[in-house]
Amino acid sequence: MYFLKNYVLTKQPSYWFNHIQIPYTMMGLRKLFHTSNVLNSLPIRDGLPMRLLLLGSPGSGKGTQSSRIQRKFNISVISSGDLLRQNIARGTKIGKIAVKEIERGAYISDDIMIELITKELQNKQQNWLLDGFPRTINQAVVLDDRLAMTNRSLNLVINLHVPEDVILQRIMDRWVHVPSGRVYNLSYNPPKISGIDDITGEKLTKRSDDNPETFKIRLQKHRSLTEPLLEYYTKSNILITCYGRTSDEIYPQIERELLKRFGVGNFY
Ligand code: AMP
Repeated sequence: MYFLKNYVLTKQPSYWFNHIQIPYTMMGLRKLFHTSNVLNSLPIRDGLPMRLLLLGSPGSGKGTQSSRIQRKFNISVISSGDLLRQNIARGTKIGKIAVKEIERGAYISDDIMIELITKELQNKQQNWLLDGFPRTINQAVVLDDRLAMTNRSLNLVINLHVPEDVILQRIMDRWVHVPSGRVYNLSYNPPKISGIDDITGEKLTKRSDDNPETFKIRLQKHRSLTEPLLEYYTKSNILITCYGRTSDEIYPQIERELLKRFGVGNFY
């Protein structure tokens, strides 16, 4: 009895809220209690932590998908491209190196990238998603080692597969808000006011590497250096691939998979 009393008192109110609502969900009373809205804003408390990696060729929509995952599951997103662009905007030492490499479609050295990302990971809450890192086998091996040391290995790698003819058009239509990493597309996700970020009212910019010449080189780099990661993560048995021509086709596949694997599906 004493144990039971302590057990009840040590749990946060949200713990009981989550657990008590399961039977209601099963009884079809979800709408009555508005559980899906409430849980949308909660981190995944009691399930397996989400430690995700998003892979896909340039222009496959990694930025768009990671924003949608972030909104739905309230997890931290670490985007290597956004971090580099922020360093460039601030004129840091890394930014000065990165600007030249990015403009010619080349990769930044593994050493720089590994330091940049592992530092970011140290400050993150337990649920996170990596976008754009690792991009080489060497980066993947070092990341795996560092995460294993703190018992936080990746538990799902999501590969986005979008046909090449769709990708080039997307790149040409893409505008970004550098401080937040928000991505807009003139054909299917335009800003409310042309050239302006919907949330902050700040100016949108075109990425210096979003042009057909640099894009060709980025695609080649992706094929030779990043695609081998698919085999690497297939061997670890944590890779899934989502296929589609648009982000709207792909996102529901990702969401379904996350709900299924991370134990939050019961609540929806
Ligand atoms: P993204 O926004 O992910 O397309 O990245 C833009 C550019 O940043 C890439 O084309 C690379 O030049 C550089 N970059 C981003 N992530 C990495 C990485 N993990 N390794 C090397 N270079 C990277």
